[in-house]
Amino acid sequence: MDFIPNTEKQKKEMLKVIGVKNFEELLDKIGVPRDLMRKAKKSKSLILPRKGLSEIELKRYFMKLAEKNADLGHWTSFLGAGAYEHHIPAALETLITRSEFVTPYTPYQAEASQGTLEALFEFQSLICELTGMDVSNSSMYDGATALAEAAILAANATKRKEVLVSAGLHPAYKKVLETYLRNLNLEIREIEYDVKLGTVDLNWLKVKTNEYTAAVIVQNPNFFGCLEDISKVGKIAHSKGALFIVSVLEPLSLAILEAPGKYADIVTGEAQSFGNPLYFGGPHLGFFTTKEKFVPRMPGRIVGRNEENGKEVYTLAWQTREQHIRRETATSNICTNNALNAIAATIYLYLLGGKGLKKLAEENLLKAHYVQKMILANAGIRPKFSGSFFNEFTLFCNTEGIKQKLLKDRIFAGITWEDSLLMAVTETKTKKDIDCFVEKVVDFPLLPEMSYPKIEYLNFPSQYLRKTPLRIPNLSEPEVMRIFTRMSQRNFSVDTHFYPLGSCTMKYNPKICEKATGFSGFKNIHPYQPEETVQGILELGWKMEKALCEITGMDRFSLQPAAGAHGELLGMMIVRAYHNERGDTARKKVIIPESAHGTNPSSCARCGYEVVKKGSNKQEDIELLNEQGEIDIGLLKELMNEEVAAVMLTVPNTLGLFESKIIEIADIVHKKGGLLYLDGANMNALLGIARPKDMRFDIVHLNLHKTFSTPHGGGGPGSGPLGVTKELAKFLPMPTIEKTEDGKYYLCYGLPKSVGKIQAFYGNIGVIIKAYAYILALGRSGLKKVSENAIVNANYLLELLKDNYQVPYDRACMHEFVLSLKNLEAYNIHVWDVAKRLIDYGIHPPTMRFPQIVKEVLMIEPTETESKETLDRFIEAMIKIYQEIGSQSTSWKVREAPVSGRIEEKAATRRNLKREY
Ligand SMILES: *Cc1c(COP(=O)(O)O)cnc(C)c1O
Repeated sequence: MDFIPNTEKQKKEMLKVIGVKNFEELLDKIGVPRDLMRKAKKSKSLILPRKGLSEIELKRYFMKLAEKNADLGHWTSFLGAGAYEHHIPAALETLITRSEFVTPYTPYQAEASQGTLEALFEFQSLICELTGMDVSNSSMYDGATALAEAAILAANATKRKEVLVSAGLHPAYKKVLETYLRNLNLEIREIEYDVKLGTVDLNWLKVKTNEYTAAVIVQNPNFFGCLEDISKVGKIAHSKGALFIVSVLEPLSLAILEAPGKYADIVTGEAQSFGNPLYFGGPHLGFFTTKEKFVPRMPGRIVGRNEENGKEVYTLAWQTREQHIRRETATSNICTNNALNAIAATIYLYLLGGKGLKKLAEENLLKAHYVQKMILANAGIRPKFSGSFFNEFTLFCNTEGIKQKLLKDRIFAGITWEDSLLMAVTETKTKKDIDCFVEKVVDFPLLPEMSYPKIEYLNFPSQYLRKTPLRIPNLSEPEVMRIFTRMSQRNFSVDTHFYPLGSCTMKYNPKICEKATGFSGFKNIHPYQPEETVQGILELGWKMEKALCEITGMDRFSLQPAAGAHGELLGMMIVRAYHNERGDTARKKVIIPESAHGTNPSSCARCGYEVVKKGSNKQEDIELLNEQGEIDIGLLKELMNEEVAAVMLTVPNTLGLFESKIIEIADIVHKKGGLLYLDGANMNALLGIARPKDMRFDIVHLNLHKTFSTPHGGGGPGSGPLGVTKELAKFLPMPTIEKTEDGKYYLCYGLPKSVGKIQAFYGNIGVIIKAYAYILALGRSGLKKVSENAIVNANYLLELLKDNYQVPYDRACMHEFVLSLKNLEAYNIHVWDVAKRLIDYGIHPPTMRFPQIVKEVLMIEPTETESKETLDRFIEAMIKIYQEIGSQSTSWKVREAPVSGRIEEKAATRRNLKREY
């Protein structure tokens, strides 16, 4: 089986059409220096097999790795702390693995994405219902990054510089918050907790809250599992004009607790509990909700609903505050998010319904209280705190003794926190599991008639409880199955359609990679399991890092970034840490070409950097490209000075053109003390051809969801590993994965110079497993073939579209190219008309409006997984459309396409951001 459909013979035919004898000649035409190619070819092999593994070999290999982990299918776990083991219904697993949900692109083209849009709209509605908030976005990377974004929103909205954080906040969340806020000059102050109750000390809070406080942040239930009195905290925050932010670690609690919306201005959280596997910490599911008035400031995407011709339609609403338009003034740099995880949560909540969810929450509550009650019967053990709790609590006991004793019996007793044990009990523990566990802890047999307590006997302040039942529809499994199957069918997806989408590398995703990731030994492992029980996944992470080093030439990688933009942000943090360490604090600027992706400038801004601008009021982006579409070396020399921290380039650039003078460019940047950053989203053009390190880049991020064939999931989850040179490795986020001399893998937190933490756990591990499977499936030679075919396919299209469509930079391209449809304006036709007409031909529209330097731009990237037949069909469709435009009797067809009706983003959509159930 091959993932590349074109044969050598077809490739030769295509090269002939392009007008070159062989691929090497094409690379010469493109302008890739021979020296770079030679270096890539001769580069040392670290870990990649020369040839790809067969499906049988892959399956065995991944099964073995999975078996090296203690998976919760076979072990009993009481681990929680922000990642919870809940049962995932079989119907959800069936629905969420449908290609039409897994393999579509971000729903920018509403007509081709109604399924994803409707599912995300439902997600927003459900999260609003649970939190009692006005508006929810359609997902964030995780609960920790969502909280950091909330703090930034609060600082911007109040124009204040301090956030007060309860000491009951998850320590990893606090780390992420610190890492995000440090470069924005925002202060974090901690409010102690009441040592008896385990909740925020309200007296202290009152004293500390003042006119500098942008926001008060508490978690509920908090890290110790205790329930906060959020009505009182909210009052204190508001009395001084601060915003009140609530972070939710265990959203199941919202089924029985009063919705925080009554008191909070922003509610963010982690919704992994709703139908998403643990996957050793990711991808999980951040959510972000606010009151209506903060909508223009919210990060991320929001779906809106409208009625057109009596039919409900969905589009992305509120795009104008996003980075692809606002660039460095955008409200956030988040682009790819965790859309597929949000769809899983939606289906989960539909399967359970309002009643089912409440019952489940009660079961969690009762089991947790039962365990606590039974253990407390043992004289040596007492609760750390007396506050009320939901399904998690802390015990004051001989933590390590209990943990070690139970580990022998395949039980994870909980997490050590200072002098106590943090335990979570969910519905996945049967009474037998629980009794067996309790007997081992307390050392005496339980009476068989001991039973769960009753809710009314728990010491639960009644004001904490939800008064109105959840308005979530109560449907049967077959009904939910049909609703979501039909919804999915309203999408275009890679498995059903061709996506010639520039910059996004929408390629076919080999199914063996999905299979490999699905083993229980990967899916069902908790991020806080002891290292010796997760050797398989640590080994995989360690080897993935080596593979990425081999591919790029870089010295170290962090797998932590959740997407490309997240990698950019981390990269900029490292740039800052590097200059700060040298005492070189005058560098406040970054040079980014105007042709760059919108996330580049917004990631810089998120790290407190200014983007170098031109014009009398310094508002215009700098176009660094010359007439050949490459960096203007003279201009770069002029701009590069001691104030510039870094230059951020995309190679090949967003026109699909290679930077033939890259070595010279690197020299200019380095001579002035700057660092050179590569946005590696276009790595699909470079595999085995040129390595970022050889091009002298200091930092590079990759998009696994583009180059390494992990599906886009309708907008995420992705993964954006960041690679650096040796000199910068000490700044990487913690933990890194290391290996001892005797072959044991471990998580290393001993990096004193590290920038900190950018996710609650270790990265989107589920995505990383898929990408590693893909890399092994291709091997070194296969990866080279990927880029070779991607480049040949693109040049073939370019050659055959040239006659009818304008090519602004008429030269050989790499894996993508741009057309300008400016000449069609004479017919009153715009680029989006042509794009929408393609839908009628069964083809997803190419990228539009980007890069912004080309007017009426259409950006086309065929990828290596499309056959010559598909490319020919695309060319034929494009020529037909051109002919339709030319004839008066048919040009309306293009103007009004698609035939199913064009969906407009209207103002009305912005006002309909959730459903009332
Ligand atoms: C996709 C892309 C990004 C952003 O990546 P995300 O994963 O969406 O955050 C950045 N730069 C370029 C060139 C891209 O194509």
